[in-house]
This record gives sequence, structure tokens and C-alpha cells, in this order.
Amino acid sequence: MSLKQSIKSLRAPFFKVFNSHKPAFTCPICQYHGPFKDKKARQHAKCPKCGENERSRLQYLVLKHVLENYDEPDAKVLHIAPEFSIQRYFSSKFKNYTTADKFRTNVDIQFDVMDIPFPDHSFDIVYASHILLYPQDDLKAISEVHRVLKPNGIAIIPMPIFREKTVDDYSPEARWIHQSGLDYFDRYLKFFPHLQMYYSHMFPEQYQLYACDSSPGNPLSVDALRREDLVPVCYGDEVDPRFNLVLPND
Ligand SMILES: [Zn+2]
Repeated sequence: MSLKQSIKSLRAPFFKVFNSHKPAFTCPICQYHGPFKDKKARQHAKCPKCGENERSRLQYLVLKHVLENYDEPDAKVLHIAPEFSIQRYFSSKFKNYTTADKFRTNVDIQFDVMDIPFPDHSFDIVYASHILLYPQDDLKAISEVHRVLKPNGIAIIPMPIFREKTVDDYSPEARWIHQSGLDYFDRYLKFFPHLQMYYSHMFPEQYQLYACDSSPGNPLSVDALRREDLVPVCYGDEVDPRFNLVLPND
């Protein structure tokens, strides 16, 4: 938790008292139990104690699940555009942990994901959430992640789902060059032979892993209010059985 969030978290008990009429959930990251905060149009989005949202809670649960039996403190991990909760989890579990970003300076190394400055087969785990929205040549970026990953490693590269089919918009004013649809993950399969998908519904409801923002056109909508999120885990050319391959309750 950052210092700013640590100070904010002091308000969590008061938020809980004043919102006791709202549904209660449990944060898997900090173990807070009580109502979550709304974030713009998204209801029950944010944990008032650690500040993490639905997306981070699901990603954290997927990581914990996949790495449940992976007891390798010397494994090499690369985390691009690091989120605080995931960063804390990785650094507590692995000694050879490297953070990276294109612009941020509070990381170990800066680089563009289309040109990762590490030799082939350098890492056991690469983690990079929502970064492929931005690179001009996203296939080059995916090939770079594949290149630096060991053949028995895993790459976790979540993307937001906006629609059924991906739209690539190379206009200068585009906020995101690649507006990913459900078919986006086919691009991973050009490089990675195995892909395992984890969805919100595979984990207990108490963690509130849905975006509650009434997005009726979204292919991951499950009812009038909620849509699922998903986390893709890419396996290299050799699937290492030390990673937990069994899906959670489906
Ligand atoms: Zn929390």
C-alpha cells in the first residue's frame, strides 16, 4: 500500500459504519470485510482499505491460484507497468523480481515493450496488465514477451474487453490503438501454444470481481448490471506442471 493509500485506509472503518446498509464483500488482498466504494459509474468497485479495484482483485486471485504450488524463490519475474498489490505479492515470493515501465521512474528499468532489453529466455514469469492497448505494433510486443520468457514459463497479459471484435485505430487522436474484443487473445496464440482463461465467475462471489457498470453491449455482461472480467495465462512451448493448471470452481 502506498503512503497516500495508507492514510486513506484509516477512513475505512468510518466508511464501513456509514455504509452498513450496503452489501458487504471481502477483499482477498487486504482481508477487509464490508461495503466497497463506487468508482464513477462502477458500483462496489474499490476496497476502501487497500484501494484495489475489481480488476486487481481478480488478477491477484488468479496469480495466487496459478502459483499455489510454485515454490521457486529463485524464479525470475518481470512485471511491466506494476500495480502495487501485485508488486507486493511478487516481491514477497520471488527474490529475482524486476519491475519495468516505459515512462514511470519508480521502477527498476525503463523500456518500450516492443523492444525488451533482455536476452532470450530470461524469465520464468512475465506479468503485464492492460499494456497492449498502446504499442503501435502489438504483435511485436507479444513476440518480445514470448522471446524473453523461458520455454516452460508463463506470461500473464490481461486486456480489457470492449466488444466482440477488436478494433485497431492508428489515428493520432486514438486514446487506445488496440481496442480489444474477445477475439484479441487469438493474437497470443500466434506465439504461445497454450492459453488458459480465468473468469470472475470462477472465484467466490464474496470477492466482488465484476464490473457493475451496466454495459449491455459488452460480450462479458452476465446480467443488467454486471460484466465479468477475465485473465489470460499464456504457457510457453513446454507446460511446466509446477504451475497449477486445474481451473478453480467453474
Ligand atoms: Zn483491500
